Amino acid sequence: LPFNDDLALGRAMLARIKEGLADWQRAHGRKLTLMEVCGTHTVALSHSGIRDALRPWVDFRSGPGCPVCVTDQEDIDAMLELATLPGLTVTTFGDMVRVPGSRRNLAQAKAAGADVRIVYSPLEAVDLAQAEPQRQIVFMGIGFETTVPTVAAALRKAVEEGLENFSVYSVHKLAAPVIRQLLQDPELKLDGLILPGHVAAITGRRPFAFVASDFSLPAAVTGFAELDLLGGIQDLLTQYHEGSARVSNCYPRIVREEGNRKAWNLVDRYFTQGDVRWRGLGLLPDSGLVLRPEYRRFDAQQRFPLNLPPAHLPPGCLCGEVLKGKVLPFDCRHFAKSCTPVHPVGPCMVSGEGTCATYYKYERRE
Ligand code: SF4
Repeated sequence: LPFNDDLALGRAMLARIKEGLADWQRAHGRKLTLMEVCGTHTVALSHSGIRDALRPWVDFRSGPGCPVCVTDQEDIDAMLELATLPGLTVTTFGDMVRVPGSRRNLAQAKAAGADVRIVYSPLEAVDLAQAEPQRQIVFMGIGFETTVPTVAAALRKAVEEGLENFSVYSVHKLAAPVIRQLLQDPELKLDGLILPGHVAAITGRRPFAFVASDFSLPAAVTGFAELDLLGGIQDLLTQYHEGSARVSNCYPRIVREEGNRKAWNLVDRYFTQGDVRWRGLGLLPDSGLVLRPEYRRFDAQQRFPLNLPPAHLPPGCLCGEVLKGKVLPFDCRHFAKSCTPVHPVGPCMVSGEGTCATYYKYERRE
């Protein structure tokens, strides 16, 4: 394992965790099922080799934490439709242009003449709006609590500059509501959660406390380095040993109980909680961030209302079930056959943090 921080410590932790897991397995007669909610953790578990090292004792399931993957097909179709409007430019992050819509993706729309531009920051989209005042610039705002402060900063700049040709199509998601939704599903049997440290860095630990208080499920907020992940798993084992259930902050060097108030206050100025669509999960109440009514002139969904036909999902794609942790990519008939990173059928194969792309890169056995 590539323990960058401390090889000896990492090996010692791993050995101790294996012992604890073997004890747990002897007592329960089965593997432990843990969900890593966040796509960055999905990659880190595979890249570090921890998923492989613990495979005899732990069944890791990925959750709905990859922003590209959870973006609903209807929202992809809406961006494709917007991209065809004359005088309008769609801007978004790189991965999004390859996510298949019902008929094509944004890259194909661009090849056919639509003005689609990749940006690395929402502020770039604001700069574009300033540079090209004759065009309407729409930024597709995807991502969780971690990303949205940068979109709020872009809105602040657009407001300050008095821009009338910049708007945001907000499909921002909130982690805690979707986790609650998942945990209410009686089919999903989990023994613990590994919670995203970068989201908690913004929100604090507290919004996740319901995992233990309402569902009696142990959870650990962790970072992304190997020792962070092992520390989180070790904490879960401690909770099993004690017979307790709490949401531990195993990433205290980054995550504070109250989160990053400055960043969240900026978000709160422009956004409010609202119902948003999730791939595979449908419309979930208060599970995302929408623009506040006083900023609706910057809301692309208000400025450019669309009347779209129902979205078509790629036939046979199990992304919705992968995102709920119910199946693994291997269970999909397309995996590594008709669906590869070069020719993705579903979004979980597009994003570098998608579960299918991660399993394609690290977990294939043949
Ligand atoms: Fe969808 Fe491809 Fe993953 Fe299957 S392998 S679930 S088609 S992204």
